[in-house]
Amino acid sequence: MTPGRPVPPPLALHIPLAEDVAGELRPGPAVDGIDDPRQGRLAAARGAVSSDGGLVPLTVARRAPKPDDVEIAIEFCGLCHSDVHATRGEWGTQNYPLVPGHEIVGRVSRVGSDVDDFAPGDLVGVGCMVDSCRECESCLDGLEQYCERGLTGTYGAKDARNGDSMTQGGYASSVVVDRRYVLRVPENLDPAAAAPLLCAGITTFSPLRHFGVEEGDVVGVVGLGGLGHMAVKLAKAMGAEVKVFTTSESKVTAALELGADSVILSRDADAMATANRSIDLIIDTVAAPHDLNPFFRTLRRDGALFQLGLPSEAMPPVNPGALIRRRIAYAGSLIGGIAETQEMLDFCAEHGVVSDIEIVGADQLNDAYDRMVAGSVKYRFVLDTTTLQAPAERADA
Ligand code: NAP
Ligand code: ZN
Ligand code: ZN
Repeated sequence: MTPGRPVPPPLALHIPLAEDVAGELRPGPAVDGIDDPRQGRLAAARGAVSSDGGLVPLTVARRAPKPDDVEIAIEFCGLCHSDVHATRGEWGTQNYPLVPGHEIVGRVSRVGSDVDDFAPGDLVGVGCMVDSCRECESCLDGLEQYCERGLTGTYGAKDARNGDSMTQGGYASSVVVDRRYVLRVPENLDPAAAAPLLCAGITTFSPLRHFGVEEGDVVGVVGLGGLGHMAVKLAKAMGAEVKVFTTSESKVTAALELGADSVILSRDADAMATANRSIDLIIDTVAAPHDLNPFFRTLRRDGALFQLGLPSEAMPPVNPGALIRRRIAYAGSLIGGIAETQEMLDFCAEHGVVSDIEIVGADQLNDAYDRMVAGSVKYRFVLDTTTLQAPAERADA
């Protein structure tokens, strides 16, 4: 760990991007209703063609399902702050066109010949990865997100098992994914409100579980956005007392309504002092550079701060004394493995946990991004994919 140094984006880690993606997004006739398993499908989509042009209508050619593939008719896709970082090129070189979206929920439309664990009609989800090497130590341990050869992100990644094409994400009407990376979404969860579980949910569930949070622990959540509000709900469902740290006065009442036991305005030094040495684990979800040292002071001996947010600019330096004096750990965590993601979805179904969402149509995506950057969403935007135009109705088709 090297506090203060900019870190690479999680979803493109060690993944060389394809040089030429033009063939991935091509015009053509609509093929809705096809039932020949040898045929691919065109998907209506929204994506970026440059870092500063916003999201525009695109057409994505999806492959025909291979023997292990599941084709999904996407119903909803959550908007993650990582989508904003990636489409705006904030994490460095990015290949365009790029269709973001890695909080995907939909119904299976077709399956490959070797798929017997999913059938057409099943409610399923896809999160931040669609492949990994499947043979390194991390993959064999069920920690595919830490694949030593680099996971294949749901968008913007070179897809080695599919001709090195570039993956394109869930702001689209369909997607084709290997069955090993498809999750089963419990039918008692609202599909739109469950979509954010596929990234915001698992990204906060995983460090809570890794730390072993249980009844009686005190969990601090820094930043009340998409990830932060899921951390509050999940930590409460695990029996913890939850303290929220926010920069937004307007979120104080809402945080209490979400289930937080107390709320602290993190820019108020006196309020911060009241939390000194009171917390076991902090989940930091802030999407911008910020000083962590005041938060270390709120941790008890043997406490830990997990940083989940990945700002594009450097963070202020960490004071080693703040860590040493109480044996505090400063850690990071990247989404979660496939088995753990399934465990999280089942946990949410059992405890009635879903995201608080605002559904948006395709034409509202650019405004939604601006509102996310301004921190004015309670708490996750979710795209209704029925608002995407069919490829045949569009100028590029
Ligand atoms: P989000 O919904 O935009 O929430 C981020 C929150 O951070 C905001 O609601 C705000 O909370 C706080 N914040 C934003 N700007 C701030 C500033 N300048 N100073 C202080 N606080 C600020 O974003 P998200 O989708 O939850 O994602 C959060 C971060 O996690 C992003 O960087 C994203 O890329 C990253 N991420 C990481 C992983 C992983 O695997 N580690 C997975 C997904 C996302 P308040 O208003 O309450 O202060
Ligand atoms: Zn995400
Ligand atoms: Zn691997």
